[in-house]
Amino acid sequence: MIRPHQTIKQLFHLAPGSETTAQGWVKTRRDSKGVHFVQINDGSCFADLQIVLEAGAVAEDVIAKVTTGACIRVKGRMVESPAKGQAVELRGEALELLGAAPPETYPLQKKRHNLETLREFMHFRTRSNTFGAVFRVRNAVSYAIHKFFQERGFLYVHTPILTTSDAEGAGAMFQVTTLDLMNLPRVAGSAAIDFSHDFFSKPAYLTVSGQLEAEIFALAFTNVYTFGPTFRAENSNTPRHLAEFWMIEPEMAFCDLEGDQQLAEEFLKYIITYTMDHCIADLEFFNQRYEPNLIATLENVAGSEFARIPYTEAVRILESSGRQWEFPVHWGSDLQSEHERFLTEETFKKPVIVTDYPKEIKAFYMRENDDGKTVRAMDVLAPGIGEIIGGSQREERLDVLLDKIRAHGLPEEAYTWYLDLRRFGSVPHAGFGLGFERMVMYLTGMKNIRDVIPFPRTPGHAEF
Ligand code: ATP
Ligand code: MN
Repeated sequence: MIRPHQTIKQLFHLAPGSETTAQGWVKTRRDSKGVHFVQINDGSCFADLQIVLEAGAVAEDVIAKVTTGACIRVKGRMVESPAKGQAVELRGEALELLGAAPPETYPLQKKRHNLETLREFMHFRTRSNTFGAVFRVRNAVSYAIHKFFQERGFLYVHTPILTTSDAEGAGAMFQVTTLDLMNLPRVAGSAAIDFSHDFFSKPAYLTVSGQLEAEIFALAFTNVYTFGPTFRAENSNTPRHLAEFWMIEPEMAFCDLEGDQQLAEEFLKYIITYTMDHCIADLEFFNQRYEPNLIATLENVAGSEFARIPYTEAVRILESSGRQWEFPVHWGSDLQSEHERFLTEETFKKPVIVTDYPKEIKAFYMRENDDGKTVRAMDVLAPGIGEIIGGSQREERLDVLLDKIRAHGLPEEAYTWYLDLRRFGSVPHAGFGLGFERMVMYLTGMKNIRDVIPFPRTPGHAEF
């Protein structure tokens, strides 16, 4: 019987002298005076385990196949290591070759590969130092997100991935159909497609956000959150956009924009602190290899009180900055990346929450302020990345919401249930959305969003 077995991370905690078995994939092998030094890794931690095999411990034809990428199992004894940078190593007594990786054809040889090349070997990049670290951080952050909300009594709600509400307005949607594309049914006497023959008897899409459905749950369970995949068919080939990405969307009843800002700040700090506490070896690697200010920036964000300013004030700061903006700023324009970075990196030198944006540039469901011009929206901006969270207090007044749906030219009948939530038992409520991959980029210093998701989907690319 082959059973789940102690990982290398666990082996590092064994007392010197312990008999054990180690298994993993070979990073490197070095031979010196008949002694073989083999580094293996099994993904459980950043550090490789060094295995030392005395001359004669393994047959020459077997050791010849212990090359980068091969999978091996070694029986032996943990001993204190004379080598620098590691406390213990494994003195190997018997080696079993589980799966060879012929060096002539295995694509991931010892030399350092750039991230673009590694993307071509998605099924092997997981064995590299960089992607090992990325996916351990991604795993830790996922857990921290659930832990944060569960500790605060939030209900985890699974909002639908397939949706027939085509009117959320957050972005271009992927349509899902089982109609025969070669032979589409038409509405009698018209060129329009007759979706009554489609799987759901109407057009269906992949969701762009779970927010509206999460509101249903907040108005029954008070504090809820979603954490799931979302899809955008936007043809934007940028380092920050994916066609399939994960989003976290808390939604809280009995909560206004103040409370929303407070939760967002607490949430970001919690995730950063958790990751620093649990993945420090991975973060140190990113700090050394990719982003020299990474750990200092994360410590700064976790330790500082976020600045909070209204949009009107932010525009005033930007207008009087004396800068030549690529995108000119004036009251009413949306803030661009260069403006967001100026506010966080130059003006405040820490995260900034900008609130109360002009209603014209924000979604219909955001609560209108008494000035009639702005809405209770917030964007959390962070140094080095710009916008990381977008949220708002939702419009809870039926008459105002109806006016806004009409003003935005949205089909009223599609929002019957959303309006019903305001007709029956309405209450002030608020929430926000955090793009999960954007957060993982921030925590790792990775510059391309394709490198923080296991299987990226972008225009023209959907391997596996
Ligand atoms: P952006 O301006 O960057 O396109 P957005 O305004 O479209 O973002 P929202 O609709 O507010 O974003 O979505 C909520 C969050 O989801 C964003 O703050 C961002 O972190 C993330 N996000 C949005 N679009 C994408 C995408 N295509 N790929 C990955 N993450 C995304
Ligand atoms: Mn977008």
